[in-house]
Amino acid sequence: MQQVFYFGKTKIEGGSDMRDILGNKGAELAEMTKIGLPVPPGFSISTRVCVDYLKEEKFPDGLWEEVEANIKILEQETEKKFGGVENPLLVSVRSGASVSMPGMMDTILNLGLNDKVASGMIKLTNNPQFVYDIYRRLIEMFGGVVLKIEREKFEKILKEYKEKNQVKSEMELTANELSEICEKFKKLIKSETQKEFPQEPYLQLRMATEAVFNSWNNKRAIDYRNFNKIPHGIGTAVNIVTMVFGNLGENSGTGVAFTRNPATGEKKIYGEYLLNAQGEDVVAGIRTPKEIENLRTELPKIYNELLKICEILEKHYKDVQDAEFTIENGKLWMLQTRNGKRTPQAAVKIAVDLVNEGLIDKKQALLRINPHDLDKILHPTIDPEAKIKVIAKGLNASPGAASGIACFDANLTEEWVENGKDVILIRPETDPDDIHGMLRAKGILTQHGGATSHAAVVARGLGKPCVAGCEALNIDLAIPNLIVGEFTINQGDEITINGTTGEVILGRAPMVTSGITDELKQILLWADGIRKLGVLTNADNPKDAKKALEYGAEGIGLCRTEHMFFEKGRRPVVVGMIMANTDTEKQQYLDRLLPLQKQDFEEMFQVMDGKPVTIRLIDPPMHEFLPKREQLIEETVTLRCQGKQKELKEKEKILKVVENLWEVNPMLGLRGCRLGLTFPQISAMQVQAIFEAACNMTKKGIKVFPKIMIPLVCDVEELKLEKERLEKIAKDVMQEKGIIIDYKFGTMIELPRAALTADKLAKVAQFFSFGTNDLTQTTYGISRDDAEGKFLLKYVEKGILKENPFQVLDREGVGKLIRVAVDIGRKQNKDLDIGICGEHGGDPSSIEFCHSIRLDYVSCSPFRVPVARLAAAQAVLKQGL
Ligand code: ADP
Ligand code: MG
Ligand code: MG
Repeated sequence: MQQVFYFGKTKIEGGSDMRDILGNKGAELAEMTKIGLPVPPGFSISTRVCVDYLKEEKFPDGLWEEVEANIKILEQETEKKFGGVENPLLVSVRSGASVSMPGMMDTILNLGLNDKVASGMIKLTNNPQFVYDIYRRLIEMFGGVVLKIEREKFEKILKEYKEKNQVKSEMELTANELSEICEKFKKLIKSETQKEFPQEPYLQLRMATEAVFNSWNNKRAIDYRNFNKIPHGIGTAVNIVTMVFGNLGENSGTGVAFTRNPATGEKKIYGEYLLNAQGEDVVAGIRTPKEIENLRTELPKIYNELLKICEILEKHYKDVQDAEFTIENGKLWMLQTRNGKRTPQAAVKIAVDLVNEGLIDKKQALLRINPHDLDKILHPTIDPEAKIKVIAKGLNASPGAASGIACFDANLTEEWVENGKDVILIRPETDPDDIHGMLRAKGILTQHGGATSHAAVVARGLGKPCVAGCEALNIDLAIPNLIVGEFTINQGDEITINGTTGEVILGRAPMVTSGITDELKQILLWADGIRKLGVLTNADNPKDAKKALEYGAEGIGLCRTEHMFFEKGRRPVVVGMIMANTDTEKQQYLDRLLPLQKQDFEEMFQVMDGKPVTIRLIDPPMHEFLPKREQLIEETVTLRCQGKQKELKEKEKILKVVENLWEVNPMLGLRGCRLGLTFPQISAMQVQAIFEAACNMTKKGIKVFPKIMIPLVCDVEELKLEKERLEKIAKDVMQEKGIIIDYKFGTMIELPRAALTADKLAKVAQFFSFGTNDLTQTTYGISRDDAEGKFLLKYVEKGILKENPFQVLDREGVGKLIRVAVDIGRKQNKDLDIGICGEHGGDPSSIEFCHSIRLDYVSCSPFRVPVARLAAAQAVLKQGL
């Protein structure tokens, strides 16, 4: 089996289609050679050799002979000799796997140099400064990568020279100084390894090759692969490439070019370069590279050639390329190309532009965009034009920006959020006891802890912005406040965090959303033309509903009515209703709620004119509307001690009701349709409000399609009773108003028993909606609030679970229940319409699953509507269904 593959004028043995054995770098070097671009010749040792080498701990038979034969070809082609003194051939030894692992493994440049070759090269070039520059680079890279000597030890010597000569860059040192540095470097190697720097070029090559193979298993690389779910068994190729020199003076240089702007997508080359520099200098940060635009004036001929090459690359790869180049004495060489990483905004623009330029078709464009990215585009970021006051900087632990009022306590955060406030939770560090606050906060800020601290891990899991380990903050929980420099932030003050940069900002920073650009609109229209799934939204108020419509929602798949009870001014009425002793008294409060709910629905129907509105009847247990039991106990005790009899009586009365309603496990307690069956007046009021609103709006010429959804059903009998009772109310209203409404009654499927008896439910229900949040909880027997803070994310980190099942629908378990329910439900009732309204409705992988089992629609939060439109189209393209 061939182990080494050549690319050059003599022959080309590789190409793009051989990425898995040549790695990306090797395959594309061969490919670029094939299409006639100027690439220095070389060859690649296959990834299979690496796998073999790491297993056997020695080179496979025949490898070295093949390497030597390829060096011979290279010598003939370049008319140089490896190890030769007259006209020496130098090479780079570069790693490169079939998946990009930037910066994870190492490269050695200028290999083949030794004392003799160096003196030969000095004669040849008459440029001792250049020769000692590349020699000292080789010794340092070889010492670091192959001999594992800490790079700092070399850098220390360099620094001494730079300081002594008061120069910033080593490129300003003289030949003599560089030659002294080479000697010092060699001495360092001797003292660190007890061996000389190897002078024999083939030995250098052999050791470097082994080092690249071994670097596959360095800790950095292993961690990177674990994090990015890249298999460990694929190995890296080694690419041996003829050196070209960018450090031969001001007519030489090195740089990186993107064929388009990766931040905005603008069709214009973008990149950086340095004159008189070698490869790594551009990223090393010692000298600041110049924007590529400057090359137009500095080296116009090269600039134009680069433009032409970029165009060829894009035409060939049909995508934006990120390429490395080097200029050697006025000649341009290409050293690498790959698909360019880009921002979400750029990805959308580029995909549409490439279609318009005829390089790709619409389907390819749709498949190129990661649906998750659309979510990022629509979320607010801090206005780049705004003047903001950054008061501290911590770790950028979870991306995104958020503003809110500072709160130092998880309980209070929960309370404030329930009262409609935006809150940033600030803690010295978080622990599982803070989870209820973290779940509700807009963002999280901590003083201690790193990128894997509790705060960081949980925030990332929840997709919330987080700045962690911001040690500059001085948090005092006793006051509570935080002090940083001259600034004090008290509880309740406004603050902003930017989890993308780690910045903490005073006050509320102005945010911008790029909104739906013309390009995004185009992509989504293409997606609509392909997708089969409907895309609805979860919205509880007219504002969200409007937003969702703007984003293309085709209706409301879930409107949670209890959120209307939390609105300001209504809560006392709700509390009054719960506290009422008699049915008549209860009804009095409900009569006050009725017009309010009616108005809510009228507004929703108006906004959604002509589109279905799925309304879930009240779901949460009653005590969620009342003060917390623990808090009440504390307050009663205090009042008792203070002897405030009158207030005490009031408190005790509330406490008694709360005690009555108190549940050990409210998630599985008196909620959902069980509430309706126990306290029928509440859902009766809701249905009356819905139908009165529907009739009123119909009279106004608005088209109304209400779908009444009965939650948490586990037995068909529950559904039957509720539907009969509520439908009668609906009919009464319609009769009274003299209007016929096109309505449906249906149920949520969120309990395994409901899924397994869906055939029975389908006899009564006209639609199903899978409430996959609860269905996941009840299938796993895991309560989400408890699990995400305590063990669930650890499970994912350890690989016990592949994903957080609350984010990505579990196809094996939960998915199986859904499949069964769809199957037996549709068999019973072929007109049944079926959708999903859990958070999974906005997750691309879950949407793909919904498509594959032929649901009618997914429903998701307004921001996710574009994500769902694209993901639904991708599901069609990927599955061909
Ligand atoms: P990485 O994978 O980290 O980008 P590379 O193998 O691409 O590492 O090489 C590091 C740097 O050295 C790059 O800037 C590259 O362009 C440069 N380089 C690699 N091989 C050569 C060569 N034969 N001649 C000149 N520069 C080279
Ligand atoms: Mg590179
Ligand atoms: Mg539910």
